[in-house]
Amino acid sequence: MERLTGIGVSDGLAVGPALVAIQRTQVIRFPIAAERVGRELAALDRARERSHDQLQQIRTRMAALRGADLAAIFDAQLLILEDPMLVGRAAELVRDERVNAEWAVQSAVDELGKVFNDLADPYLRERKGDLHDVAGRLRMNLRDEKGSARDLLQDLETPCVLIADELTPSVVAQLDWSRIRGFATDAGSRTYHTAILARSLGVPAVVGLHNVSWRVPPRASVIVDGATGEVVINPPAAMRQEAEARVTLARSRVAAPPAADGPVETADGVRITLEANVERADDAPTAVAAGAEGIGLYRSEFMIAGAPPDLVDEDEQYRVYRQLVEGMLGRPVTVRTFDVDERQIARPLVDAALDARWFSEQDRPAGHGGLRGIRFGLANPGIFKRQLRALLRASQHGPLRVLFPFVSSIQEVRAARALIDEARAELSAAGIQTGAVPVGIMIEVPSAAFTASMLAREVDFFTIGTNDLIQYTLAVDRTDERVSDRYEPLHPAVLRLIRHVRRGAMRHGIPVSVCGEMASDPLLLRLLIGCGLTQFSMTPGAMPVARRVIRETNKGDMARLIARVMQLGTVEEIEQVLLEAFGKGKRQETTWPTT
Ligand code: PEP
Ligand code: MG
Repeated sequence: MERLTGIGVSDGLAVGPALVAIQRTQVIRFPIAAERVGRELAALDRARERSHDQLQQIRTRMAALRGADLAAIFDAQLLILEDPMLVGRAAELVRDERVNAEWAVQSAVDELGKVFNDLADPYLRERKGDLHDVAGRLRMNLRDEKGSARDLLQDLETPCVLIADELTPSVVAQLDWSRIRGFATDAGSRTYHTAILARSLGVPAVVGLHNVSWRVPPRASVIVDGATGEVVINPPAAMRQEAEARVTLARSRVAAPPAADGPVETADGVRITLEANVERADDAPTAVAAGAEGIGLYRSEFMIAGAPPDLVDEDEQYRVYRQLVEGMLGRPVTVRTFDVDERQIARPLVDAALDARWFSEQDRPAGHGGLRGIRFGLANPGIFKRQLRALLRASQHGPLRVLFPFVSSIQEVRAARALIDEARAELSAAGIQTGAVPVGIMIEVPSAAFTASMLAREVDFFTIGTNDLIQYTLAVDRTDERVSDRYEPLHPAVLRLIRHVRRGAMRHGIPVSVCGEMASDPLLLRLLIGCGLTQFSMTPGAMPVARRVIRETNKGDMARLIARVMQLGTVEEIEQVLLEAFGKGKRQETTWPTT
């Protein structure tokens, strides 16, 4: 038996056989059974053939369109594809190490990448980008072949506890959660996207365990305790039985969620709007049942599920947005355009645009000041406009708002709005008339927060994304468990920025909400109300607690408290004042909402 302690991010207990999934650059490593080796090898071979045919076709098209020079890129890629050190080596790894083909391809690429790094000739060194292109294509074809994570999980006879190094939203979106009792990951913090999703699904989860994926032998049994952050590997039978008994008891006690009982006001009569953060197209009924007055944030990137956004076509998107809008029965739905960065996406089909070559830059760290959110959209106007057209079409079925993520300048907003106009004109030329939709932005990058009063002239609403705003203001990576203790919503800089954003919005009379996790922490919610904020969006599971807290909160008192807090320079001093006010020093001692 071994015990590890991490950060409990979603309450509840999960007991069961472990499924260890190690994922890098969207690739999951699965141990495969001996009988499966042949199938994986055949799939690898078919993926190679398919990749070959695609590259040939692209080469021919490029030669016709742009001449031999550009076509030569694909000659080089064809050569790489046929190199025995790539597919041949991957096949060897499947056979010898009994791993899935996708992982084997990735390992072969890593090995080959090192060879490229050592080359003296800069021209040849640059071909590393092509190597990643080819690998991305192979993996994409392998995925088409058999689905990956989701399919592999279908093979399991019993539901399991997922143990992983990291779980990106795109992988998470592919999983069949009915077969996953809980999960534990090496990476992560409370605002890790997957942690957010775990809470909304009610799946117990512990993150930030550093090396759990290596400590748990495949098929060991584990206990994951999302309340204490503890993971027990191979517990003795008595301990496992006790945990199982607790799970059964907890299930029998699950009370129906309290009926959502209309609009909510603070104790001194200030009306507060509560909306829902959702990640899936079929989440609308849950949001409505929780009493959400709308969807304040739909994270549309969860729809991509590891596929290149190229592959999520306009009609499919339109259906999803329409389902959400109709499901909300007249309440507004805020769809955030894809908040992805280049590393979260598999290599797209290259045949459309050569500028897609930056996708191959897989060595950059994910998510940090890269081509993310609105920047990604503007760099890929084809993908962006397709999403905007789908949104405009869906807006005919009910109130829909468009929200741009990761905005850092006014120019970006203007450029994105121009694309909305173009998308509308294209639809109109096709005989589809669409009305105006409110356009808002996430305030989650410090430059946007500082210039809030200027940005407020350009848009219809703001949504403060505290998860990112905190990480970028404090320069603390929200997914890095080593610095998670510095991720501090009570930092004076964070509180000041939030107040500044609210004032900027007020000056121009536009609404401002908070959709980061900060709003679902009872104490922080009170402070936000004290800052004058009256609109919040959170996971539906957090709403019952939020309602209670709002009803107990006196906005006037909180405003006075905030005035004192704003004079203080350290988190410790702020906590001390809160201790006096609420009798609790540490926020952690307040009840986190359970889902
Ligand atoms: C945020 O940054 O606070 C936010 C709500 O967006 P996400 O967590 O999806 O980055
Ligand atoms: Mg964000």
